Amino acid sequence: MQKSIERIAGESEGVSYEFPLFRFAGTDKVAPSAYLQAALHAGELPGVVAIDALMPMLAKAEAEGRVKGDITVVPWANPIGRAQYHFGEHQGRFHLGTRTNFNRGFPLLAAPDVALLPDTTLGSVDQRLKTRLVQLSLGHDIVLDLHCDDEGLAYLYVHTSLWPAMADCAAAMGVDAVMLWSEDTDGTFEGASIMPYQNVPDEVAKLDRRVATTVEYRGILDVDGALAAADAEGLYRLLVARGVITDTALPAPSPFTGVVAPLENIDMMPAPRAGAVLYDVKPGDRVAKGARLATIVHAPGETDGRTEVFAPQDGIILTRRSRRIIRAGEDLLKLVGDSKSADARSGTLED
Ligand SMILES: [Zn+2]
Repeated sequence: MQKSIERIAGESEGVSYEFPLFRFAGTDKVAPSAYLQAALHAGELPGVVAIDALMPMLAKAEAEGRVKGDITVVPWANPIGRAQYHFGEHQGRFHLGTRTNFNRGFPLLAAPDVALLPDTTLGSVDQRLKTRLVQLSLGHDIVLDLHCDDEGLAYLYVHTSLWPAMADCAAAMGVDAVMLWSEDTDGTFEGASIMPYQNVPDEVAKLDRRVATTVEYRGILDVDGALAAADAEGLYRLLVARGVITDTALPAPSPFTGVVAPLENIDMMPAPRAGAVLYDVKPGDRVAKGARLATIVHAPGETDGRTEVFAPQDGIILTRRSRRIIRAGEDLLKLVGDSKSADARSGTLED
């Protein structure tokens, strides 16, 4: 395993950002290669600790000559966001300098060729970081971007061109659900990892062996040793299932039995009033149409001071907010409905 340091030039003299990069060299040049990164949203740490638990497993496989495909690991993908504190609170989702979401604005290339990347020498520092992350990841057969939600189940975003071929990955990782998407107008990292393969010849696209996914490892507070160990096992099983690593001791994979739904089925449930949220449901709960999801206490103690929110259709609760203060119009939760949401928001994945 080789460690190197990536450097991103800042926007003024004397400022730059660094993050470590780890490379395991595969012994078989035709084996699939893998790229893993965590904490693109810099405060989302379940993936960081999962990688911490995975690295010794990769090192052992390497020592035993079982790493077949090249593996690149970036445990802290966002040194800019990692250093952003605002009035004592960490702010890892948006770049404070440009107010841009760190998981938006990635270049969506027409083909998987880094020569097509824009020149960001004179761009903003977050653009330089994004260009570099695409440079590092593009061309790998497997690209995993580890995130987490507010409070939630473990789930994946997967482009429709990779489903159901990626069902083995979902099973290997042990996630609860898979959200299928087809359009990326905003330039997510996942979009930058899969859109370049949509309009190229099959022998370049190799969609049957390609993996690109945003992994949502539950909630922001689910940074836990036991979960990290389990998630590392899941990542390892995926790498074995796809032939990046060989391990004859692993049991045969079982089929994926979790929830699979298109993004159009998600009801986001905007809060009708501002106030304190009393939830009736938590991630993983199955709800029927008409069930109460939450009560907003907007005028405590007053007549009509509470407003209730009900399920618009049958489904499963995927996520909810980790904080209990809410403004009118902010989304309360994600309900994955059994059919298309009447309020379906067009566009990209929500991470
Ligand atoms: Zn995220």
